[in-house]
Amino acid sequence: MSFNGEATSDVPTLPGTHSGIPPYLLDKARRAKDGVFDTRTKPVNERRRSVAVPQGIERDVFLKALAELKEQLGGQHVEINDKPLVDGWYMEHPNTHDMMTILDDEELVASAVVYPGSTEEVQTVVAWANKHRVPIFPISMGRNLGYGGAAPRVRGSVTIDLGKRMNKILDINPDDFTCLVEPGVSFYALYEALKEKGYDHMWLDTPDLGGGSIIGNTVDRGVGYTPYGDHWACHAGLEVVLPTGEVIRTGMGALPGNNTWQAFPYGFGPYSDGIFSQSNYGIVTKMGMTLMPNPGGYESFMYTFPNEEDLSLLIDIIRPLRISNILENVAQLRHVAQSVAARGLPRSKFYSGDGPVPDSVIHAAAADSPVGDHTWAYYGMSYGPEQFRAYKLSLIDAAFRKIPGTKKIDPATLPEDEYFWSRDRIAAGVPDIHELRWVNWTPNGSHIAFSPVSPIRGVDATALFALGKKYHDKYGIDFFPAFCVGLREMHLIVEIVFDRADPQRRREALDCLRDMVDEAARLGYGEYRTHLVLMDQVAGTYSWNDGAIMKFNEKLKDALDPNGILAPGRCGIWPRRYRGRGWEMTREKGIVAEGDGVSDE
Ligand code: ADP
Repeated sequence: MSFNGEATSDVPTLPGTHSGIPPYLLDKARRAKDGVFDTRTKPVNERRRSVAVPQGIERDVFLKALAELKEQLGGQHVEINDKPLVDGWYMEHPNTHDMMTILDDEELVASAVVYPGSTEEVQTVVAWANKHRVPIFPISMGRNLGYGGAAPRVRGSVTIDLGKRMNKILDINPDDFTCLVEPGVSFYALYEALKEKGYDHMWLDTPDLGGGSIIGNTVDRGVGYTPYGDHWACHAGLEVVLPTGEVIRTGMGALPGNNTWQAFPYGFGPYSDGIFSQSNYGIVTKMGMTLMPNPGGYESFMYTFPNEEDLSLLIDIIRPLRISNILENVAQLRHVAQSVAARGLPRSKFYSGDGPVPDSVIHAAAADSPVGDHTWAYYGMSYGPEQFRAYKLSLIDAAFRKIPGTKKIDPATLPEDEYFWSRDRIAAGVPDIHELRWVNWTPNGSHIAFSPVSPIRGVDATALFALGKKYHDKYGIDFFPAFCVGLREMHLIVEIVFDRADPQRRREALDCLRDMVDEAARLGYGEYRTHLVLMDQVAGTYSWNDGAIMKFNEKLKDALDPNGILAPGRCGIWPRRYRGRGWEMTREKGIVAEGDGVSDE
């Protein structure tokens, strides 16, 4: 099969390809792929502007430097990015650019991609980057969709694709319930390894889609849906190559001959791990992760609630249940509009007009589904043997039924491909590929999230819901809110789905995101994570005490990375050489990612 010049081979599988799909999901992945290509109209970008040489180095000097790197790593491990930009899809994603770009294709694009095979080779690349002052951008697997994918923040950076050759599971310890992985190990791959070894007494925690790197997701503070859903909190021990080339091991890893690197995350002295998450201070080459004991039984449940206004009371009901761990996992409260989109059909099947699909159409579609009409759906899971679950579920049931019109959905009434079953698998640590489906809502469907953090309070949920709705209405965008409830806070995740082939839709999506970030900040809410194009704006909202935190971040950056080579601009942290030259992406700056040169100092 081929599409607009984009060859579409069969879906790659594990263990043949480190980033492949496990065989148990192959059929589903094939269907997902068909759905993506059925709605694609965007042709492959054949007219490259030529290799995106980074600012601060002459083209011929840069090309010579790349030739030198080829000699050091082997020619096949250094690829110049001079070919058409192929977007692919989730399982066959590019490592050269953001496959879901909200800017022009050529803005956030790598000049070359290198594939180190060991920590020592990562050091070689770092030494090379310092020598020639070339910006480098590490990715583990580059499936950071919705946050920039594999793209670098600085145009023309050399992407270090760590996962391709560094993809070993170095250890799984069945007694301590821990593992040690390299950057190219996906959630799918770890799940397969646990099964293969017969370790069914241990669970892993997976995000909505399992193709991402465990390291990549964890350092970017991604989440999953079992009680081990806070990945950063569950990691233990890092090996990091610093921007000046030295290697460190954090926590107990600093003690030669230790046997507790994955058991005790802190070691002695300052806890350094924090500065390597959502930053540009180091390249993580190994990471330890804790695994969850199989709880000895589990049961998913789903409740629906009829009205938008039920949100406030519902969140206030959830809070004490969640804090006391009766609601045990990072569960989701989803709006019906997203559930309708999660069927994987284009929005044109429901509505052909402009602007957001009217509520009446969404509710009619929901009424015509096995779950039935509703506005909010809560997906949760109870863990442990039957008698434990029965007690917790009875408390939950009594609490949720305080809302008039609440319905408990009987899973036995739901067909096999209903979204509920995907949530069921994920909350039981079984990676899936279902979540992708709502991207088909628009042609060339792409997404970027707005994800503010708030207390678990009805007033906050209502304020954020109203804020999101206001700006989605302003720009005529369908509104897909979902609340993910942690132990003391919740994230509202709003995915904007847009047609990346349409500059006007991209612009509207970006303006909507910028408006929401600004207004949320005015109300005291900040994002927990963001896309490359919003990093400067979001970092700017964390401005207490005259931007004291960014001044501290910059001090660290200048000390650790004096040449400013590692992922400049990531999370809004610019090295000295770039500062004051207009590299920050703001509303005023528009849709151009580059600044005006770098200093020679
Ligand atoms: P995933 O494959 O899980 O989707 P990515 O590899 O795209 O994750 O990583 C997400 C982001 O985290 C990257 O864009 C990069 O900035 C950062 N990152 C990923 N892996 C590493 C790493 N090993 N060391 C340092 N930063 C990393």
